[in-house]
Amino acid sequence: MDLAAYATANLPRYTSYPTAPHFVPLAADDHARALGRIGAGDALSLYMHVPFCHALCWYCGCHTTVTRSDERIERYALALLAEAKLLHAALPAAHGPVTQLALGGGTPSALGAQRLAGVVRHLKRLFPFAPGAELSVELDPRTLTQDVVDALAEAGFNRASLGLQDANPEVQEKMGRIQPVE
Ligand code: SF4
Repeated sequence: MDLAAYATANLPRYTSYPTAPHFVPLAADDHARALGRIGAGDALSLYMHVPFCHALCWYCGCHTTVTRSDERIERYALALLAEAKLLHAALPAAHGPVTQLALGGGTPSALGAQRLAGVVRHLKRLFPFAPGAELSVELDPRTLTQDVVDALAEAGFNRASLGLQDANPEVQEKMGRIQPVE
């Protein structure tokens, strides 16, 4: 009973840090000033968000949207490349290598194998990557294909989070995410 009461409490989503109550409006130059504090040799961690899913799970609080439009995904991939260039230009020249790259979402594999490989190639051209850098990706086992797995392996990804949430078929039905073990 105590636990049930706890479950009804309004709490910040654990997946964001700092959590939403700590978000504050940014001034126009806050981003540039934060990047300016990166010192010579400081390692970089990059995060790339892919806000697309094949279908929405009913419990999801992630920033994502359903699309089947390849044209829309293509435009987003091009925007990612453009933003990476802007970021590269805004960083102090003497920054250190990338030690972590995380692809999250949404469903990063929604980009498809070729675009995923292209985006990572682009990032590696712009930024030096440390040997053994941690490259991680969130994957939806329901839509994952062998060509995406191959592209990620080829690009050097060495960590994957396979979203499962719950293996119980009844729970899966109630949360709008059906994924049999097979
Ligand atoms: S696949 Fe992941 S990101 Fe997309 S709606 Fe489901 S839980 Fe949210």
